[in-house]
Amino acid sequence: MELLKRIKAPFQDDWCRKCGRTMEHTNRRLFAIPDMTVGHYESHTEVRYFKRALWPVEEREDIPAGTYACRALEYRCPRCGRRRVKLSVFLPVRDKNKMEETILFDDGEQMEFLWH
Ligand SMILES: [Zn+2]
Repeated sequence: MELLKRIKAPFQDDWCRKCGRTMEHTNRRLFAIPDMTVGHYESHTEVRYFKRALWPVEEREDIPAGTYACRALEYRCPRCGRRRVKLSVFLPVRDKNKMEETILFDDGEQMEFLWH
């Protein structure tokens, strides 16, 4: 079991790659991406892009129809303090979310702007 955990650690988004410990959720927030509407999805991984394109919304209902959205989650390792940010990009379609892409930022510090 220990060995399995160590092998799996690099592939699990809530595991610290350095310590192999489960990270804690520290922040979560929902954003609309008014830039991208249905049929016009483009994959982005640059911090600069998200800094410009993400619009914080309170609830899923606040996302304009046909517009992509993004759920941001921050994890922090209780042992070494390392932070990681996961962005899950999806298209809300009626009562479902059509998942498009998940992007992990291992240096969560550079994504600090998400929480302000
Ligand atoms: Zn750690």
